[in-house]
Amino acid sequence: MATTLDFEQMLRGAALRVTRPRLAVLGAVFAHPHADTDAIIGAVRADLPEVSHQAVYDCLHALTAAGLVRRIQPSGSTARYESRVGDNHHHMVCRSCGLIADVDCAVGEAPCLTASDDSGFVIDEAEVVYWGLCPACSTGGDA
Ligand SMILES: [Zn+2]
Ligand SMILES: [Zn+2]
Repeated sequence: MATTLDFEQMLRGAALRVTRPRLAVLGAVFAHPHADTDAIIGAVRADLPEVSHQAVYDCLHALTAAGLVRRIQPSGSTARYESRVGDNHHHMVCRSCGLIADVDCAVGEAPCLTASDDSGFVIDEAEVVYWGLCPACSTGGDA
């Protein structure tokens, strides 16, 4: 489990000024993988009740731009954020409840799919979303 000290070092390592909102947002993304902005605002406000929506958006933007968090947005979903960066992993999304789970990269490095025709592009990433039903939804349970 990452500590505040780890988060401070991550911010410094990315040449970002260490601020309480940035620490709180980083902590919330680590604690709640694939959370959307509303969930992150809720988690941050547990620590910093006075923080504004705009401040959280600004932090998420700065952290994403610095590569400390990754933004994903499956079609039909709001943007989600996660702390697992740099490994080109993919996602499974439940069509019914929207649950998101990580899937390791198929071959361990990007791009993990070879295009059938690259049209002359130099391809550095393949983003794959696996759609289906999560265990709770596929068994018909209402859990
Ligand atoms: Zn589901
Ligand atoms: Zn993920």
